Amino acid sequence: MRNLLCFFGLILLAVLLHQFLPWYAIVIAGLLFGAFAPLSSAGEAFAYGLLAGAIVWGGYSGILNYQNESILATRIGNMFGGLSAWSMVIITALLGGIYGGLGSLVGFWGRQLFGQGHTELEDFIQGIPKAELHLHIEGSFEPELMFEIAKRNNITLDYDSIESLKKAYKFNNLQEFLDIYYTGAQVLIHEQDFFDLTWAYLTKVHSQNVVHVEVFFDPQTHTDRSVAFDVVINGIHKALEKAKAELGISYKLIMSYLRHLSEEAAFETLESSLPFKDWIDGVGLDSSEMGNPPSKFAKVFKASASHGYKLVAHAGEEGPAEYIWEALDLLKVVRIDHGNRCLDDEALVQRIVEQKIPLTLCPLSNVELKVIQKMEEHPVAEMLEKGILATIHSDDPAYFGGYMNENYYETAKALNLTEDQLMQLAINAFEASWLSPEEKGKHIAQVKDYFHSSKYSQKQVV
Ligand SMILES: [Zn+2]
Repeated sequence: MRNLLCFFGLILLAVLLHQFLPWYAIVIAGLLFGAFAPLSSAGEAFAYGLLAGAIVWGGYSGILNYQNESILATRIGNMFGGLSAWSMVIITALLGGIYGGLGSLVGFWGRQLFGQGHTELEDFIQGIPKAELHLHIEGSFEPELMFEIAKRNNITLDYDSIESLKKAYKFNNLQEFLDIYYTGAQVLIHEQDFFDLTWAYLTKVHSQNVVHVEVFFDPQTHTDRSVAFDVVINGIHKALEKAKAELGISYKLIMSYLRHLSEEAAFETLESSLPFKDWIDGVGLDSSEMGNPPSKFAKVFKASASHGYKLVAHAGEEGPAEYIWEALDLLKVVRIDHGNRCLDDEALVQRIVEQKIPLTLCPLSNVELKVIQKMEEHPVAEMLEKGILATIHSDDPAYFGGYMNENYYETAKALNLTEDQLMQLAINAFEASWLSPEEKGKHIAQVKDYFHSSKYSQKQVV
């Protein structure tokens, strides 16, 4: 259907161009068609081009001949010793068809030549079984869903359209992002809203072959607006359970304390969470890093551990390596979220390697928040080289331009990651997860199977 629409577009374009470029019009139109129409084979490209060329050139010649005007057909006919104009109309149509067909074929091959590597890499990444360990559910709030929920809750957003909201997604640092992030989260009021938000994320990552997720949620972003803790967690939990049953995605849930707020506020959140202890696997620490070191939350992390929660913290994203030391020594976390800045400190790298402390990296987030200037500077390859248990995740995918596949793809493309490095990243994510050793083993075996059986055999993927 889309091909047919493109085909009629091709004819229209050829007719329009014909006014200015009689000879080359059909070739140019064919080239554009071949390059952009969703064609599946060279034969298809040629056939469409041929047909369109024949219609346009044959049609033109026929009409003009019918009007008894001196036309190309008669001129060429004369060159061939006076062949009748009508038989030349047929030959002209054939000639136009060949021009159109060849133009379309060259366009199609050009697209294959320039686009092939990317498409093949994207397909390959799609097939990798993946685990996501660094994802803020509020950061998966797509503008379309935000507007839909705002409408049903009678909330007016500061932006008049989805487009104007998307335009605001250009940040210079973590704080500028957080300002929009908290504005968006304000439309979440009812349990159904939290369910819809979580379900949208889970169906999206299911389509990207993500089989295990460890999801952050920020209770204080909601309880500070008088939305009750149970409303938030009920909606999220229901969606996670539904995804487990219907999509086969296993999950863990991590409650994050907002570090720009006080430790007392975190203690209140810990207290509110206790009736739902069985649904929550761990606690984390996120929001504005600079000026809010992990040491500020040492007591509440100790108390959280005493209730059986596992511990993680964001550290070393914008903040210095010192914050990573604090997260390890004072908060006693088992995993560092981001941790980019560890590379500033050789002794810290040694500690992270020796103790196999995972770093959950988020490449697209790093570029968007100017933690790095461009993807080519991303430290993940260097970290793998040093033996760090580095993993790749999406952080706040609705705001940073991509979910798991896009993060893998952009990183692989920019850093020329090898197949071995990609496999290591996929294995590391399961290794760093909170799944049981048996579950980890099962997933890692599937990752290895995928890489070993895949037709994708180049050492260098780009
Ligand atoms: Zn994060």
